[in-house]
Amino acid sequence: MVLYRSSQIFYLARDMFSMSKRLDSIANSATMQMKERVNAVKASGVKLADLTVGEPDFPTPELVKQAAIEAINKNLTYYTSASGIPDLRNELSQFLKSHNKIDASLVGPENVLVTPGAKQGLFYVLASLLNEGDEVIIPEPCWVSYGDITKLNGGATVFVQSSEKSSFIPSISDIRFAMTRRTRAILINNPVNPTGAFYEKEYIRELVELCEERGIPLISDEIYSDIMFDDNKFYSAMETKSQSVILLSGLSKTAAMTGWRLGYIVAENKLIRDCVKMQQQTATCPSSITQYAAIAALRNYENYFPKMLIEYKKRRRMLVDGIRNIPKFSCFEPKGAFYVFMNVSKLGVSSEEATSLLLEKAHVASVSGSAFGKSGEGYVRLSFATSEENIELALSNLTGI
Ligand code: PMP
Ligand code: GLU
Repeated sequence: MVLYRSSQIFYLARDMFSMSKRLDSIANSATMQMKERVNAVKASGVKLADLTVGEPDFPTPELVKQAAIEAINKNLTYYTSASGIPDLRNELSQFLKSHNKIDASLVGPENVLVTPGAKQGLFYVLASLLNEGDEVIIPEPCWVSYGDITKLNGGATVFVQSSEKSSFIPSISDIRFAMTRRTRAILINNPVNPTGAFYEKEYIRELVELCEERGIPLISDEIYSDIMFDDNKFYSAMETKSQSVILLSGLSKTAAMTGWRLGYIVAENKLIRDCVKMQQQTATCPSSITQYAAIAALRNYENYFPKMLIEYKKRRRMLVDGIRNIPKFSCFEPKGAFYVFMNVSKLGVSSEEATSLLLEKAHVASVSGSAFGKSGEGYVRLSFATSEENIELALSNLTGI
């Protein structure tokens, strides 16, 4: 006869693949899921105007591709240092000083960690900072993954709402009001995915002061910092020279390198060392080939990025003006990034339903505004990191709805 202890019986009765409680509390990424839904519709032969995912349609610049091919041919295909290859960290440090005008004292190579994408970088930062139940303040609407990456690391989300009336930026006093003894960090994205809103210099300075006063870091995701329109001048949180700022960025958007997976964290050295430990124990290092390509991407930035920006400017104008000519819709004029947050409230349905309606009736693929938080209800997000032809098709189809 086989004897079991009572704890073993419980173990046997459990579903073999039941989820961890942490994973159970998070959702699939709405943007990545929509991308898959749309790909399935496209594969069935339907011609869609796909304005879903925030992914540049430009090819990765030729020089960058060549650098990757060269790395392969030179057999630079092994594990690298977990922090990233020294040449790339030096190059990033130079780039942050000369291009982003950040003080040299904050951006030595020892302050930079290269990660497989900014998303992974955010994961490391939150994993390093949070204990169970620690709160992260996140202005919304915000990028779909912020809340879930926080929860995945045991944190609690405290969303601070905003509206189109306040240009989708919550007031500092609302942020102050949301703070408690458990607040462990504030997380912002500037300029903002999904609204195209942006935090001006004075706001950033006040926010950094608030963080310093409370002894907490400001995590500033500046992945779209170069994609700015009109006279709106980007101001990096690191320009305040405060040690409390943790900067996140990467090459996915500005170098059209989404699939290569290249991001970076810039912060004071203690946090970087903690994140290196996380990287050693998870990804080990970013792809060596991608890292060599990234050096070329940074060295040749001025050869390709300004041309992309000209295209984004044209596309934004086209999409914003087009939407404003359709009586059922309206939109906030994006000041940066490559998204338009279109107001669909006149359709009289929820954002989710509006997204399905646009997809089924107009063959326009978008992401529901509610995926970006409660303040996104009544909107859908349209990405203009896509061709003019696609935007034209979307506008003409939306006119008929
Ligand atoms: N932050 C924001 C605001 C984004 O929109 C994205 C897009 N994926 C990322 C971070 C992550 O980019 P990646 O992981 O491709 O570097
Ligand atoms: N950031 C992009 C988006 O919002 C890419 C998809 C993702 O990683 O969420 O569409």
